[in-house]
Amino acid sequence: MPEYLDEVLRQCADDDEGALADYIPELAAVDPDRLAVALCMPDGQLYGAGDVDALFTIQSISKPFVYALALMRHGLDGMERFVGVEPSGDPFNEISLEASGRPRNPMVNIGAITTHALAGEEGAAKEDLFEEIRRGLGRFAGRELAVDERVFESERATAHRNLALAHLVRSYDVFSADPRDVVWGYTRQCAVQVDVRDLAVMAMTLASGGTNPLTGDQVVPRWVARQVLSVMSTCGMYDVAGDWMTDVGMPAKSGVGGGIMAALPGFVGAATLSPRLDRTGTSVRGVRIFEKLSREMGMHMMETPATATQVLRRTDEVSLAGGAAHRLQLQGPLHFGSTERLLRRMQEVPTDREVVVVDLGHVTSVNDVARRMLLEGLRRLGADGHEVVLVDPNSALPGRHAEDVAASVVDELPLR
Ligand code: GLU
Repeated sequence: MPEYLDEVLRQCADDDEGALADYIPELAAVDPDRLAVALCMPDGQLYGAGDVDALFTIQSISKPFVYALALMRHGLDGMERFVGVEPSGDPFNEISLEASGRPRNPMVNIGAITTHALAGEEGAAKEDLFEEIRRGLGRFAGRELAVDERVFESERATAHRNLALAHLVRSYDVFSADPRDVVWGYTRQCAVQVDVRDLAVMAMTLASGGTNPLTGDQVVPRWVARQVLSVMSTCGMYDVAGDWMTDVGMPAKSGVGGGIMAALPGFVGAATLSPRLDRTGTSVRGVRIFEKLSREMGMHMMETPATATQVLRRTDEVSLAGGAAHRLQLQGPLHFGSTERLLRRMQEVPTDREVVVVDLGHVTSVNDVARRMLLEGLRRLGADGHEVVLVDPNSALPGRHAEDVAASVVDELPLR
């Protein structure tokens, strides 16, 4: 993996297209040649190449995480009253408002500034709100994150447009805080420093249903991670979201500090750094790297995994103390796709077999819908007159529900 990532960087290294963001003076002072990539796997394994230790400001890549914190406070419906989820197709700093004054989505500045204001307790001091956000970002990264004071001061001194956006939303009473305080906090949020490994871990945390792969900390519940990834996939790349989704195919967020972060649910968190940006404010070489990774490593979300067909490891006849039994040995992750197939196979179990063994020994995970489907399948086997023996050594189907539908639940099959 490290050699492959080195090679990916080598192939993109000479490309010097694009320019540094200069509307924030301090961003125009960074080394434009910095180049790095990092991947974080579901078990926390990290891979990196290039300037993996280089610190840069998170900028707009903070937006999905602050949206997550605001969702925790207001709930899904509550948050949708304040900020929409429609891709605007607009540039990042556009006046992207519905007639009611509701920003179109939380990824463009106007929505992100609003989301910042909504992330904390009503009436909280701006310093306290920012501190809560900084700590929240740190939990996603698995370490304390600091602020780049020079970039912060530089952006604050020139934040006229963001101030205008904040005042505009405030005029519709979408939030109650002083717009100047909100932009102060939002600008500090954008100036939080990260490296590519931090971003890869943060992405993997979203891609793992909200659990940080390094610390094991459940930073946000699954529904929040799902909502954030959904909005990243439609709105995260602003006015190039469609190009990105078709070419790369991962929920992602870019930042004018040169970072891009992307998450492939269940598989990988990834991040790049290269500060030269195209006209939409997106890192040029970052896009190239992600296009390569997606193409060469099959990381595109719409490339369907072929797991649904492999749910049955084998079916056979075994002899137990009480006589012969029909055994279904299952494997892999049980989700809607694989379990639907399993239920069809359950209907084909010979009716003359009294005992049916369902063996979960090789099942790696059971999601909520699969659990309900499987329990219903087991119940129906019982209703059809079979005695169901469930083998579940790893407690894939925990709780007493399994005992309600199976005649017995055992760790190991008492073979004769
Ligand atoms: N701090 C930047 C701004 O508000 C973030 C923009 C971006 O990274 O896309 O203008």
